[in-house]
Amino acid sequence: MHFSSVTGQEGIKEQLIKMASSRKIPHAMLFTEEQGFGALPLVLSFVQYLSCPNRSEHDSCGTCPSCSKISKMIHPDLHFVFPVNTTSGGGSKPVSDNFITTWRESVSADPYLTEQEFYEKCGIENKLGNISVAEASSIFRKLSMTAFEGGNKYMVVWLAERMNQEASNKLLKLMEEPPDKTFLFLVSQSPDRILTTILSRCRIVKVPPVDVKTLATRLENDFRLEPADAFLWARISGGSISRARRLISESTESSAFDSLITSLINSSLSKDLSRVIMVWEEVAQLSREKQKEFCYNLLEYIRRIYMISIGSPGLSFVPASRTETFRIWASRINPAFFEKGIEHINAALGDIERNVNSKYIFADLGNRFFLSL
Ligand SMILES: [Zn+2]
Repeated sequence: MHFSSVTGQEGIKEQLIKMASSRKIPHAMLFTEEQGFGALPLVLSFVQYLSCPNRSEHDSCGTCPSCSKISKMIHPDLHFVFPVNTTSGGGSKPVSDNFITTWRESVSADPYLTEQEFYEKCGIENKLGNISVAEASSIFRKLSMTAFEGGNKYMVVWLAERMNQEASNKLLKLMEEPPDKTFLFLVSQSPDRILTTILSRCRIVKVPPVDVKTLATRLENDFRLEPADAFLWARISGGSISRARRLISESTESSAFDSLITSLINSSLSKDLSRVIMVWEEVAQLSREKQKEFCYNLLEYIRRIYMISIGSPGLSFVPASRTETFRIWASRINPAFFEKGIEHINAALGDIERNVNSKYIFADLGNRFFLSL
């Protein structure tokens, strides 16, 4: 992958290129992000850049044998670790290598893919993946071998927070005595769940949200949107490409959470606290994935109401049968609410990712809606 194929993140690209030319590359780096900011694409472009003998000041060449193998993720000195789990057809102790073909296909098709999307492709969507001690042993074996092509060896660990305790301890040992010419690149969306001893051995790169303008341009091209609409989606998504994509595709489908969301908005507007509580109690009982879906749907509702309130109903994509309801909401909701509402929902999404207690997350979100709507 080229740096130029990574959306935005110019500051980080510049840092990485500087690091490459200084030849002072840390043995272990941790790229932290929120889903959809682009940590994995950055790591893939960085590895390609480091290995390319014909790189320019700005990017890898993309055509030499090394670039070609790295872009297909088949370079023998580039290894991948990612969370996996058992499938009905798989062995009892699955490791990343069992899913490497799916990994290559999925990441090639979309380096911004989400954890859940990857699990679906692997056929493990009902379980959480993990990085086991069997995996850590395999990392050890691979990195202790001599590089096949005589250059550096790279290990990319995607979603390092999924390492269990044993795997973490084993990886830590590797970090304490890193083999020569070996580089570990960890990606994490929940670095607070990684052992502090591992964190302290990594150079940490905080990948920020994609800037709104760049993200809007990408969305405009990918989805053939009007510039104003693309800009709005970019803002609502909080700089996350995967979140923006999901919101856009859901906006064209009818929402599975219509009645819950309608009830939440109506009862908050009419200051009916007991009904607000009923809604959040129901949402708190859903699975983690469904809770996320609820939040994405709620974001979409707010976007639609906002578009109507600023006099752009054409961009709201409200089905004809609901136009009147949305018009009434738009006339009753205080304009100051929109920005805050989006922040509250994005905070709830972050809390779901961090496995905060559901009751707490939705009691808080319900209260905030009740008070500020
Ligand atoms: Zn090259």
